Amino acid sequence: MLADRIVPPGDRLVVGWPKVCWLYLMLVPAVLWAPAAVSLPRAVASVLLTFLTVGVGHSIGLHRGLIHRAYRCAPRTRRVLAYLAVQAGMGGPLSWVRVHFYRDYWQNQPDCPRYFAYRHSALRDYFWNLHLSVHPADDARYELPPDVLHDPWLRWLERTWQWHVLGGIGLLALVFGPETAVVCGCARISVAILGHWFVNYVSHSYGYVRYRIERATESGYNNWLLGLLSFGEGLHNNHHAHPQSAKLSAAWYEVDLGWPAVRALQWLGLIWDVQAVGHTPTQRRRALSGPLRWRFWWQK
Ligand SMILES: [Zn+2]
Ligand SMILES: [Zn+2]
Repeated sequence: MLADRIVPPGDRLVVGWPKVCWLYLMLVPAVLWAPAAVSLPRAVASVLLTFLTVGVGHSIGLHRGLIHRAYRCAPRTRRVLAYLAVQAGMGGPLSWVRVHFYRDYWQNQPDCPRYFAYRHSALRDYFWNLHLSVHPADDARYELPPDVLHDPWLRWLERTWQWHVLGGIGLLALVFGPETAVVCGCARISVAILGHWFVNYVSHSYGYVRYRIERATESGYNNWLLGLLSFGEGLHNNHHAHPQSAKLSAAWYEVDLGWPAVRALQWLGLIWDVQAVGHTPTQRRRALSGPLRWRFWWQK
């Protein structure tokens, strides 16, 4: 049974030293110095930078665009969005594409290894997701998009992403001082990494379900508040059912702050052919909608 294994047979699960070092390189200065350095202007600047890098770059550019192809755009736009995603400080773009395809593939199988499923505690998930890396024995089964993997710009960003982020933090220190660099650099990036992990963990563990994906181990959960705070990414059951949709909300009471940004990019003519739930057919064939079902944290 694959569901009893941590990773598929032949795959290697190793300590991901580069991502571990990166996480604590951001987190330690943030914990030590950000509480004393934070001010209203610096906090506002951090939120705006988070919207630009995590919201527009990572969520719209990388996740909805590069991975799910929920819209089309010119190569120049794709490159700019990927650069914004890099400045989120969460990792290289091609690593994200790979991990997303691995996880998506296994979560949609009836027999999902434990690393990709969410049958474990938050503490274990913190260690597994933020400290370990999976190296598959064979990439062929995941049908990774070759045009993305071989894109020279994305390959260059994958090799050099840390230097762009460190350069950005250095520039902040030079122009606005070290306090701004700690709040708008280290603390902002720590919140992005830990927030992304937390939203991912919760949205596979608790919340409400509108769609059930037939023969899939994970269908995800929707979380109203996390959806609001994470540019719609916390509406994860919707995303499992409508992976090609650039709109992550599927009901009037759900808020996806990424969606108005998508509409703005469309209005500016920077993206087109936008796929969106409620506007174009985006529902996965195996997704069945039904009455809302809830799962709370004490039910795990
Ligand atoms: Zn996705
Ligand atoms: Zn998922």
